[in-house]
Amino acid sequence: MSDSYDVIVIGSGPGGYIAAIRAAQNGLETACIDKWVNHDGKTALGGTCLNAGCIPSKAMLESSELYERCGHEFGDFGIKVDKVELDLATMQKRRAGIVTQFTGGVAQLFKANGVTAYAGTARLEKGGKVVVVGLDGKQQTLSAKHVILAAGSEPMELKFMPFDGKNIVDSWDALEFDAVPKRLGVIGAGVIGLELGSVWRRLGSEVVILEALEEFLPMADSQVAKEAHKQFKRQGLDIRMGTKVTGARKGKNGITLSYDAGKGSETLAVDKVLVAVGRRPCAAGLLGKDTGVKLDQRGFVEVDEECFTGVEGVWAIGDLVRGPMLAHKASEEGVMVADLIAGKIAEVNYEVVPSIIYTAPEVAWVGKSEQELKKSGVPIKTGSFPFAANGRAKALGMAVGMVKMIAHKNTDEILGVHIVGPYASELIAEAVLAMEYRASAEDIQRTIHAHPTLSEALHEAALSVDNRALNAVNRR
Ligand code: FAD
Ligand code: NAD
Repeated sequence: MSDSYDVIVIGSGPGGYIAAIRAAQNGLETACIDKWVNHDGKTALGGTCLNAGCIPSKAMLESSELYERCGHEFGDFGIKVDKVELDLATMQKRRAGIVTQFTGGVAQLFKANGVTAYAGTARLEKGGKVVVVGLDGKQQTLSAKHVILAAGSEPMELKFMPFDGKNIVDSWDALEFDAVPKRLGVIGAGVIGLELGSVWRRLGSEVVILEALEEFLPMADSQVAKEAHKQFKRQGLDIRMGTKVTGARKGKNGITLSYDAGKGSETLAVDKVLVAVGRRPCAAGLLGKDTGVKLDQRGFVEVDEECFTGVEGVWAIGDLVRGPMLAHKASEEGVMVADLIAGKIAEVNYEVVPSIIYTAPEVAWVGKSEQELKKSGVPIKTGSFPFAANGRAKALGMAVGMVKMIAHKNTDEILGVHIVGPYASELIAEAVLAMEYRASAEDIQRTIHAHPTLSEALHEAALSVDNRALNAVNRR
C-alpha cells in the first residue's frame, strides 16, 4: 500500500465516501480513513448515515408504520387481520441486514473505483500529513496533496444525564432496542425525537416528548408545522412544548425526569430516555498542532462557500461544517470538493437543500417559509391544496395534510414549497428541481401531472398561488 496520495478523505459517511469515489473517478489516487466500529464490534464504512442514522431509522420507520397500519387501518380497506403480532427481533434483523448490505456496498464501490480504505483514527498534521492510528494501536503516517475532512457529527449529551447505553440513550441505541420500552421519554421534539418517538409509539411505547421551545418545528413553515403537530398529537404522541428538562434520577423502576414547564419543577417517570437535543461536529482529536485549520465558536470547522478551510490543500464537508446536518448536503459538498480539486467548476446551491421529516404524515420543504419571507419584506403570494381533495391520497388512505407553495408576488418565481402529507419526501423532489431551474408557479401550472397521483396536489397548489386551483373553490 502506498503512503502517498493525491487525496485523503477522513471519514466515510455520505460526505466522505462520495467525495472519495468522485475523486477516484476524477483520476486522483485516493484513500479514505474511518474509525467506525459497530455495536457488534465490526468496522464499517458509511458513517452515521448508513450505520446509525438515515438508513436504519428509515427501516424502522417503515416496519413500525406497516405494523400500525396493519393493526389499525387494514380493516378500513376490507382486509380482516385476526391477530397482529410484533416480532421485534425479526424487525431488528431486517434493519441490521439493510445496514450491512449498504455498508458492504460502500466497500465494494471503493474497490471498484480504486479507493484505498484504512480502518483507524486519523489526525491531520501540518503539510498534508495524516497520522492514522489503526484499531490495533499501530500508527502510520500518510501524506496527500489534498485532505478532505469529513468526520461528521455525534449526539450531544445533557450534562446532568450522561448516556449509559441502556436507559439514557442516544439515537443509535434507540434504533436498536431489543424490547419495546413501556414508557419512553424523548428529550427534544426535533427531527430525531419525532422520527424515533413515532417508531416506538407505533410499536407500543407510551411516548412523551419534552421540548424546551414554545414553538413546534420553528425551522418549518409555521402553517405546515401546525398541521404536523395536530396530526402527531392525534396519533397519541404526547408532545409537551415549553418544557425544559433540568434533571434525571435513576431508580429501581426507571428514570425520573425533572422539568420546568413554567409552573415550577415537575417530574415524569419513564423506563428509558432518548436524548435527542442536537448533534455536534466531531472535531476533537481531528486536528494536530498548528495545522492552521480554524474552528468556530460551536466547534464547526470554518470553511468558505467552496468548503475550503483557507489552509492550502485542506477542505472540510458535511456535518463537520456550517449548514444543515443532512446526508444529501454532505454528499453534494463531497462531489463539489472532489471536482474542485480536479480543476473542474463546481458549486453547491445551498438555497435549494430539501429538508424532510420521515414521520406519518411526512413533512418536507425546500426554500423559504412564509414567516421568513415576510420578515425579510419580500412580496409574496401563496397557494395551498389539501390532500383530502386528492384522489390518490384518498385511495392510499392517507388523505391528510397539504401542499403549500410560495411565489414572488411580482416575478412569480417559486421561493418555497412546504408539504405535510403522504410521501412528501418523494413529492418535494419536483419542487427542488423547479427551484434549481428558478421556475415560476406558472411553470408548474403548465406542467402536466399524471392522474391520479399525489403530485397533482403540487400542481393544484401552484394553481392556487393565482387563485386558479381546479378542484377547489378559489378566493375572490
Ligand atoms: P458522518 O455520516 O457522521 O460520517 C463521519 C465519519 O467519520 C464516521 O464514519 C466516523 O467514524 C468518521 N470519523 C470521525 N472522526 C474520525 C477520525 N478522526 N478518523 C477517522 N474517521 C473518523 N440525514 C438525512 O439527510 N436524511 C435522513 O433521513 C437522516 N436521518 C438521520 C437519522 C438519525 C438517527 C441520525 C443520527 C442522523 C440522520 N441524518 C439524516 C443526518 C445524517 O446522518 C448526517 O447529516 C450525515 O451522516 C452526515 O454525513 P457526514 O459524512 O458529514 O458524517
Ligand atoms: P434538532 O436540532 O433537530 O432538535 C433538537 C431539539 O431538542 C430542539 O428542538 C431543541 O430545542 C430541543 N432541546 C434542546 N435541549 C433541550 C432540553 N434540555 N429539554 C428539552 N428540549 C431540548 O436535533 P436532533 O433531533 O437531535 O437531530 C440532529 C440532527 O440530525 C439534525 O440537525 C438533523 O438535521 C439530523 N437528522 C436529520 C434527519 C432527516 O433528515 N430526516 C433525521 C434525523 C436527524
